[in-house]
Amino acid sequence: MIINGKEIAKKLRSSIAKQVAKLDRKPGLAVILVGDDPASAVYVRNKDNACKEVGFYSEKINKSANITQTELLSEVERLNKDDKIDGILVQLPLPSHLDANQVIEAINPNKDVDGFHSENIGKLMQNKAYLRPCTPKGVMTMLATTGIDLVGKNCVVVGASNIVGRPMAMELLNARATVTICNSKTQDLSGKLKQADVIVAAVGIPKMIQGDWIKAGVIIIDVGINRLDDGTLVGDVDFDAVQDKAAWITPVPGGVGPMTIATLLENTLTAYTAREEK
Ligand code: NDP
Repeated sequence: MIINGKEIAKKLRSSIAKQVAKLDRKPGLAVILVGDDPASAVYVRNKDNACKEVGFYSEKINKSANITQTELLSEVERLNKDDKIDGILVQLPLPSHLDANQVIEAINPNKDVDGFHSENIGKLMQNKAYLRPCTPKGVMTMLATTGIDLVGKNCVVVGASNIVGRPMAMELLNARATVTICNSKTQDLSGKLKQADVIVAAVGIPKMIQGDWIKAGVIIIDVGINRLDDGTLVGDVDFDAVQDKAAWITPVPGGVGPMTIATLLENTLTAYTAREEK
């Protein structure tokens, strides 16, 4: 069965829009885009459109690729102090002369709707999560729709980046699954995947995970977004090769991608509510 991220995301956006319609002040999200990377520009546009759809106040801030670290930090500081803004997101990757980590750490943790600030990552580690990284949190929402209890399940996360693999592993651990995290040095990856009840692939290698690497009945979440030379988008999993064996699978496109953006809106509403209650 397909876990239809597009549909789940649509329902989440519609539920957020209903909540926003009742509010006196609109939740505000600011997205900073540095430079003119075309893929980043598309992500930022999609986020801005999603904000408008649910009735948020949205600020799309375009900065030149030549911006200095000091100028970028003062922009973040301005947004930290702006009462209209509940969530701040700096679109990654940043040009190589900028220190992304320092920029993320400059965001007020209560406005860190990407959930990347060390304070929010630390809370996730302690299973006291507040603002949780959007892609892994969106995956947990998708898994919940299957109705399958994750307690005691063998979960294998392929990929260990700070933005997907690591927080994903922590989300699954917090759900009391048994978690294996793999990286590019992992030995016998297919042997590990064959033991898995749940696989989350977040690598960035097109169709890497093959049909004979998995056991029947597995749940597969494909986070990968890879553009082939002919322009088509594919995941990290060979969808055609695994679909008859897997019990549940997410498509690419239309799987995790839309959930990441819907979860960003969810986090912004969470940050808004916390600020209003103060
Ligand atoms: P990164 O490049 O930051 O991390 C990739 C991870 O995969 C690393 O930990 C790397 O290991 C590991 N890896 C590389 N090769 C192998 C291998 N052969 N076997 C096992 N592990 C391997 O990527 P991201 O986490 O940022 O993104 C991963 C994918 O997810 C990309 O396709 C990206 O486009 C997509 N993505 C999708 C999102 C969505 O909303 N759907 C959001 C974010 C990302 P090592 O640590 O050893 O280098």
